Amino acid sequence: MKKILLLDVDDVICFNVFLSAINEFLGTNYEIDFFKEYYIDKCVIPKERFDEYNRFLSERNLYKDAYPLPGAVEKVKRLDKVFDIHICSSCINPFNIESSGRLYKDKFDFLIRVLSFLNPEKFIFTNYKNLIAGDIIVDDRLSNLGGNREQRILFPAYHNKEISDNELIKNKIVRAGYDWKTGWDEVENILLSDDFDKSTNRGAYTYKR
Ligand SMILES: [Mg+2]
Repeated sequence: MKKILLLDVDDVICFNVFLSAINEFLGTNYEIDFFKEYYIDKCVIPKERFDEYNRFLSERNLYKDAYPLPGAVEKVKRLDKVFDIHICSSCINPFNIESSGRLYKDKFDFLIRVLSFLNPEKFIFTNYKNLIAGDIIVDDRLSNLGGNREQRILFPAYHNKEISDNELIKNKIVRAGYDWKTGWDEVENILLSDDFDKSTNRGAYTYKR
């Protein structure tokens, strides 16, 4: 039986969801690596414009300008031959809960378009990822990498660069490198390469290349 692999969507499969909305709303050209905090809108949207911003979001398909991360589609396709892939992703915007319904639809539509080879019946939309059973999980948020799993992989993202190796080792989490541009190469190495030293759980820098 194939092992169950849970894959996050935002900042793992795809990019530019809130970033393009922010840039359009503010008329700016922020790039993702400018940010260090997870909620990028909280960093740059002025408090007095937050209601206006939420109204702007509620009328927009946030996945309209989303695009896959480098290698994401190709690697997921390859991993799909080896693992039983389930998408595991949150669709609730905590700052705009009433309008979050359309995130479920817009994200679903994006996924069936971009990852058309996956079974949509295996898409799990929840904020409580640690309750979902699965052997392996790939996510960019440390708080989603709990649960009783064989392997937990932190996907590199703008907001998780400063998490220490010690913290990851303590929690038996493997870091798929430090750069989102090569994150999928690292994930593939961790999951498919015989050269990856699983005994240390120390991430990309333990590869015997
Ligand atoms: Mg994510």
